[in-house]
Amino acid sequence: MQLSSVTSDFKIMQTDRACKMEETELAYFRDQLTLWLRDLKHSAGMTVDELLKAEVFMADYVDRASFESDRSTALRIRDRESMLIKKIRQSLEDIENGEYGICEDCGREIAIERLKARPIARRCIKCKTKQETFERITGA
Ligand SMILES: [Zn+2]
Repeated sequence: MQLSSVTSDFKIMQTDRACKMEETELAYFRDQLTLWLRDLKHSAGMTVDELLKAEVFMADYVDRASFESDRSTALRIRDRESMLIKKIRQSLEDIENGEYGICEDCGREIAIERLKARPIARRCIKCKTKQETFERITGA
């Protein structure tokens, strides 16, 4: 009787601690992602501005070919940025839904070290490696 009550107390304590740890970590990743998103949005705005300015100034003075290549570089950077923004938003949604840090392929937890290196990771390293191997083989 006494032993079982001690055991259940211990379990509750453990659960509490696990929840608190998770909250701290989630808050950490939420901060990281939010800051990253803010930076990206800022530079995405700058790129649009620069692109528009470049269009006005360069159309007359610089030959078309180099203008086009600068433009396409800017567009490529913006593509990459908007893809990142999408992924960051997705990760922030995952945090809200309590699904953050869970591999979307196998449903296991993604290692915290991996998330710290890449907060937008949605696959564990095992599934990611499998996917990359698959992409290499199929050229997808
Ligand atoms: Zn996985």
